[in-house]
Amino acid sequence: MLKKVLIANRGEIALRILRACKELGIQTVAVHSVVDRELKHVKLADESVCIGPNASSASYLNIPALIAAAEVTDADGIHPGYGFLAERADFCEQVEKSGFTFIGPSSDVIRLMGDKVSAIEAMKKAGVPTVPGSDGPLTDDTEKCLAMGRHVGYPVIIKAAAGGGGRGMRVVHAEKDLLNAIQVTQNEAAAAFGDGTVYMEKFLQNPRHVEIQVLADTHGNAIHLGDRDCSLQRRHQKVMEEAPAPLIEPAARAKVQKACVDACIEIGYRGAGTFEFLYEDGNFYFIEMNTRVQVEHPVTEMVTGVDIIKEQLRIASGESLSYRQDEIHIKGHAFECRINAEDPRTFMPSPGKITQFHPPGGLGVRWDSHIYSGYTIPPFYDSMIGKLITLADDRPQALARMKSALDELVIAGIKTNTPLQMDLVRDPGFARGGVNIHYLEHKLADEQ
Ligand code: ADP
Repeated sequence: MLKKVLIANRGEIALRILRACKELGIQTVAVHSVVDRELKHVKLADESVCIGPNASSASYLNIPALIAAAEVTDADGIHPGYGFLAERADFCEQVEKSGFTFIGPSSDVIRLMGDKVSAIEAMKKAGVPTVPGSDGPLTDDTEKCLAMGRHVGYPVIIKAAAGGGGRGMRVVHAEKDLLNAIQVTQNEAAAAFGDGTVYMEKFLQNPRHVEIQVLADTHGNAIHLGDRDCSLQRRHQKVMEEAPAPLIEPAARAKVQKACVDACIEIGYRGAGTFEFLYEDGNFYFIEMNTRVQVEHPVTEMVTGVDIIKEQLRIASGESLSYRQDEIHIKGHAFECRINAEDPRTFMPSPGKITQFHPPGGLGVRWDSHIYSGYTIPPFYDSMIGKLITLADDRPQALARMKSALDELVIAGIKTNTPLQMDLVRDPGFARGGVNIHYLEHKLADEQ
């Protein structure tokens, strides 16, 4: 087992990783920017190192500082969390070259999945269903592009191979706009990601976002932990998630889950990962793979009882998976509400001092967060300050539990999106289940 893990992240996920390490008897090293010395996990860690000024570029994205911190503290593993450097193949490479264990897949696999064109290619080979499209990058041959558009059928979406975070894509509704859209997306992608490669997909009109959690070890074992629905999104940012995804066609579900497990073996996957799909009319369409732990992993933990972070640490230590597929059972239903320090109407970030804080509690209620009374949320980082998770025997009861838990949550001194979440859990359309990825934005527009 790893002996000492450096947590290359901040906030709730750093605390989550610290808790898993403690349970496994692994020592922890917290790294932090200047302002972040007040973070909860920094106080709880066995050791801590200030790695730089407040700007992420000078601290959490500062690879030499992170490697140096691992060296001086004699850590043997580095957990990247999510965001920051978690999906940077060059970071993984440098961690391993410096003699540390990267808690995640190999740099080759991160690179393969980080390029959406090569990821789609690999998924097709493994039998994972993908969105109909250009089968590779678009070329300069305008006639071919136009023919491709006709073949795929409008509307289509032009996407950057190197895109991420909802950036680098453009929907095209008619042939007259295609060539211009390709050009603009190529230019934007070249400027933003240093790679102008773009490809074409059919634009699905009313899909849901459904994803599959997987775990794979270094002994050739891979399993899935079922699915999650993350369709409630604003500007491609997830707002609330649930597991299992409601109202999914059982045969399609079983088929895609098996395909994801097969794909893990095929690409030599290691660690925890997520296959993201659009789901429409009973069909799954792969869009991308996240080669790291995700924000919404707790809903899967709640319905399976599997501690995903502990599994990551075990896998990185060279152990076999703790579970066989036939030992994984989905029990009950879980929701997660992301709590952000932001105005619930304008979505403007609202950093500042938390003057009063009371977390909710009770059976089936989980609160994953680093905040405390008197803590000042700095303006430099993501606005998510906590995740409220509920579990119950079925979906209506888990939703009722979430209503009650949100009512109990008190965070004073700053604005949070709690009122929006309170509204969502009382929304009749959402209560029915299976809303598509446009539901939240349409609802917000209707209320304007
Ligand atoms: P990113 O890596 O930037 O998150 P994704 O490929 O995961 O990009 O796509 C982000 C979002 O864009 C999806 O969740 C979905 O809302 C929308 N999207 C992407 N591809 C399509 C498509 N072919 N049809 C409809 N919507 C799409």
